[in-house]
Amino acid sequence: MTIENKKPEKILIVGGGTAGWMAANLLVSRWKDVEIYLLESTDIGIIGVGEGSTPHLKFFFDAADISESEWMPRCNATYKNGISFVNWSSIPGFESYFHPFPAQTDDIFTVPVFFNNIKARMQGSNANVHPDHFFLETYLTRANLGPIPAETFPFGVAYGYHFDSTLLGQFLAEKATSRGVKRIYGTLTEVLHDSDGALTAVRLDDDSLLDADFFIDCSGFKSLLLQGALKASFKSFKENLFNDAAVVMPSAMSEVIPPETRSTALSSGWAWKIPLTNRYGNGYVYSADYISPDQAEIELRQHLGLLDSDVAARHLQMKVGRVEKHWVKNCVAVGLSQGFIEPLEATALALSFDTISRFMTYYENGLYTNKYQDEFNKEINAKFDGVRDYIVCHYKANQRQDTDYWRDNAANTNLSQNLNKILHFWSNSKDFAKDMYMNNLVLSYQPKSWACLLAGYGVLPPLGDSEENARYKSSQDMDQLADFIRRCGLNFKKHNELLI
Ligand SMILES: Cc1cc2nc3c(=O)[nH]c(=O)nc-3n(C[C@H](O)[C@H](O)[C@H](O)COP(=O)(O)OP(=O)(O)OC[C@H]3O[C@@H](n4cnc5c(N)ncnc54)[C@H](O)[C@@H]3O)c2cc1C
Repeated sequence: MTIENKKPEKILIVGGGTAGWMAANLLVSRWKDVEIYLLESTDIGIIGVGEGSTPHLKFFFDAADISESEWMPRCNATYKNGISFVNWSSIPGFESYFHPFPAQTDDIFTVPVFFNNIKARMQGSNANVHPDHFFLETYLTRANLGPIPAETFPFGVAYGYHFDSTLLGQFLAEKATSRGVKRIYGTLTEVLHDSDGALTAVRLDDDSLLDADFFIDCSGFKSLLLQGALKASFKSFKENLFNDAAVVMPSAMSEVIPPETRSTALSSGWAWKIPLTNRYGNGYVYSADYISPDQAEIELRQHLGLLDSDVAARHLQMKVGRVEKHWVKNCVAVGLSQGFIEPLEATALALSFDTISRFMTYYENGLYTNKYQDEFNKEINAKFDGVRDYIVCHYKANQRQDTDYWRDNAANTNLSQNLNKILHFWSNSKDFAKDMYMNNLVLSYQPKSWACLLAGYGVLPPLGDSEENARYKSSQDMDQLADFIRRCGLNFKKHNELLI
C-alpha cells in the first residue's frame, strides 16, 4: 500500500518573534508551493531579548540564503568567537576562562595537547590545563581579532553573532514577506479543533477565522497552541536550574568592540555583556528565591557602573524547561513555546533552528504524515536535555562559596544520569574524551567543551609528587603550541575592521 502524499496547502505560524520569522524564512525557502501565513499581535509584542548566538545561526542564514553583508549591518551585529566566564571560580589562576567555538585547528593540533595535559594533571602532575592556553579562538579574542581568516589560511573557525533582537525580527519579517509569506496582525482568542483533536483554525479578536492544514506555534512562553489547545505537558527544569528571572539594560559601547560575550558571576546568578556595533546589551539572570528584582537591578547597575544613571531597566520572568512533545497532531512548536533553557550558552535560537529544519526533513520523509513524529520528539528532547546538562554543569562545578546561591548550586544533587556519568569520568577516567564517546555522552557538546568548563573552573585533583611536577613545568609542548597559535592569528583581521 502506498502512503498518500499529504503535503499541506496552507501553514499558519502563530507568533512573529525571532522564532516565528526564522520558521517563516526556512519554510518559504524550501516549500515554495505552500501558502504560508504568519499571525502576530501588536498588543502583545515580542520578548525582545536574546542577542547572542552559537554558530548555528550562521547555518540558519546559509539555509535561508541570506548573506552576512545583507543582514549584519541592518541588525547592528558583531562576530562572536565564544564566551568568557568570569568569577565563576575563586580558585587562584582559575578566576576566568574562555569557552571557544570549534576551529579546524582544534582536532589536528590543539585538542590532543589539551587532553594529554588533562590526563597528566588528573594523575597529579602539574601540567598546564587552563583552557585559555590551547585554542586559536581564545587567542583571537584576547587580541580583538574577528573569526574570518585570510583566504590563504587553510583552516576555518566556527563563529556566532551578537545582534539587536528587535532589528533581527524586523529584518527577517521583511525578508520572509518579500518571499511570499503573508503577514497578519491580530490577537488569537480561540483555537478550533476537528473531532480527532487536530487543529483546524484560530479565531482572532475581530472574530475572523484563520484556517490552515498545519500550524507552527511560535507564540512565546504562552504556547497557545501546543501547551494551550493541545495540552502538551511541560517538564520544568527548576530543580536543576534555579534561575527564573532577569533584569536587562543597555550600556554605552567601548571604542574596541570585543568579539565575545562576557558572563560574570554575581551574588545570585550571572550577568551577560553582549557587544553590538552601537551599544552593549546587559542582563542579570538570577533566581528570585535568592534575590528580589529590586536588589538584582541595583546589583546589575553596580556591576555596570550605572548606579546613578537613569537608563531604564526591564524585568522579565523565565519559564525554564521543555514540553514532553514538540510535535503533536498537526502542530509543531518552535522557540519559547516549546521550552527554554536559561541563556548562559545562548542556545535558544540554535534549538529553534534545529527544531524547524529537523521537522521539515521528518515531515518530508514521512510524505507529510506523522510517521516520524515520535522519533522527532525524542531527538528534540535529547537536544534540550543535552544543553540543559551542560548548563547545569556550570552551576554544579562553580567554585564560589560566598553566597547561599552558589553553595546551594554546588550542593545540588538533582543531576541527570548523563551528567553524573560525565562528572564520574572527569574524575576517574584515564581517557575522558574516549569514555564520553564510548558511553554515548557526546550529545549537544563535545568533550573539548566539557573539559574547558571543568578545567576552566579548576575542578582538579590535588597535585602529586614533585618529580612529576618538574617534568611538566618544563614542557616544551606549550611553548610550541603558543607559537603555532600566534602564527595562525596573523591570518585574522581586527574585529572592528570586519564590521565596517
Ligand atoms: C532573559 C533572556 C535572555 C535570552 N538570551 C538569549 C540569547 O542570548 N540567545 C538566544 O538564542 N536566545 C536567548 N533568549 C531566548 C530568545 O529571546 C527567544 O528564544 C527568541 O527571542 C524567540 O522568542 P519567540 O519568538 O519564541 O517568542 P516571542 O519573542 O515572545 O514572540 C511571541 C510572538 O507571539 C505573538 N503572540 C503571543 N500571543 C499572541 C496572541 N494571543 N495572538 C497573536 N499573537 C500572539 C506575539 O505577538 C509575538 O509575536 C533569551 C531569553 C530570555 C528570557
